[in-house]
Amino acid sequence: MALAERELSPTPPELGAGGRSCIDDIAERVYAGERITAEDALRLFQHTNLVDLAELADLVRWRKHPEPVVTYIVGRNINYTNVCWVRCRFCNFYRVPGHEESYVLPREVIFQKIQEMVDVGGIEILMQGGLNPKLPIAWYEDLFRAIMDKFPNVILHALSPAEVIYIKNRSKLTMEETLTRLKAAGLHSLPGGGAEILTDRVREWIAPYKDTADEWLDCMRVAHKVGLRTSATMMYGSVDTLEDRVEHLQRLRDLQDESLANSPAAFTAFIAWNYQPDGTELGGTRASAFDYMRTIAVSRIFLDNFPNLQASWVTQGPKVGQLSLRYGVNDFGSTMMEENVVSSAGCIFTVPIEEIERLITDAGFVPRRRNTRYELLD
Ligand code: SF4
Repeated sequence: MALAERELSPTPPELGAGGRSCIDDIAERVYAGERITAEDALRLFQHTNLVDLAELADLVRWRKHPEPVVTYIVGRNINYTNVCWVRCRFCNFYRVPGHEESYVLPREVIFQKIQEMVDVGGIEILMQGGLNPKLPIAWYEDLFRAIMDKFPNVILHALSPAEVIYIKNRSKLTMEETLTRLKAAGLHSLPGGGAEILTDRVREWIAPYKDTADEWLDCMRVAHKVGLRTSATMMYGSVDTLEDRVEHLQRLRDLQDESLANSPAAFTAFIAWNYQPDGTELGGTRASAFDYMRTIAVSRIFLDNFPNLQASWVTQGPKVGQLSLRYGVNDFGSTMMEENVVSSAGCIFTVPIEEIERLITDAGFVPRRRNTRYELLD
C-alpha cells in the first residue's frame, strides 16, 4: 500500500516482526499524528527492531516532505582558527594558545577558500573555530563585513553557541547585543554545533569548561529572537545514556515550540552524529551504525516541530548516510569540500557532488540543491 493511502487508513499497517507489540500504542499515536512523550521516546530507543522504527520515522518524514526529494547544499567548511583554551575531552582539533601547531587563517586564505567554493557553484560557508582569547568581537565584525563586500551572494552560516558565548563574555556584551552586532556585520545563521548532549551530567564529564546546557539553549533562544535561523545537533555515543539523549531531544523540542510561538526565526534542521574517539583524551569506542539508525529514527519521530533532518555522511560514511534516507532523513547536508574537526578524530569521509547525487538517486529520490534556508535553487 502506498504511504499516502496508509496515512488515511484508520488502522496502523503491520509493522515488522520481533517485539512489535511493545510499541503498538506508540505507533498508533504516531499514525494518528499525535505528539509522543519522552517516555515513549525512551521505549523507542530500547526497541531493537530497526525496521519498526524506520517505518514510523519514514512516515513522519513523508508527512513533512510529500515530494520524493532529498536536498543538499554546496558549501565549504572553514575552520578559521584551531586555538582554543577549553580543552574538551572529546576534541582532537584544538591547540592551546601558543602551541606550535596553532593557527588563525589570514584573511587572504579565507577569501581564497570562499572563491574556490564559489567557482564550483557553492553558496554556503560554514565557519567555525576554537575559542581563541586573541579574537574580540571587532575581529569577527571586520571579517564578516569584508566577506560580504567581496562575496555578497555567499551565505555566512557561522559561529556555534560556544564561540558566540565566548565572544559575548570576552567583549562584555549581552547575548542580544553580541548577536545583533554579528548579524549586522553579515552573519546569516548559526550552526548548532557544540550541543553535544544537553545535560550537565554529560557536559561536566566530557567538556567541563564549556558552556552549560542552559547557556547553549539560551544562545539559540536569543538568536531566534533577533531573527537568526539556526540548526541543532547531537553528538551521542560518548558517556551518554539513552535517558540523556531523550532529555536532549526534549529540551530542543521545548525550545523550538517557544521560538515558533514567539520569535521570527527557529531551528531549521536537526543533525545527529556519533562521538569520534580516535586520538582524544576521552577515548572509548565508536558507536555502531545500528545506534546511528535508531537515534535518527527516534529523533525524527520525537522532533515533530523540526522541519528537516540532515544526514551526517561525514561521520557515518556515504553508504550509511544513504540508508538514513529511509530512517527519517530528508537532507544530505553540505558537500563540505573540507572538514578538519571530525577528521582530526579519525573520520575522513569526503564525497564529490556527483556521488552525492548518485547516492540520493539510487535510494529512489530526486536530488535538489538548496540554500541555508532550505529553499530549492535548481
Ligand atoms: S570542541 Fe570546540 S570548544 Fe571544545 S576544545 Fe574543541 S574547539 Fe574548543
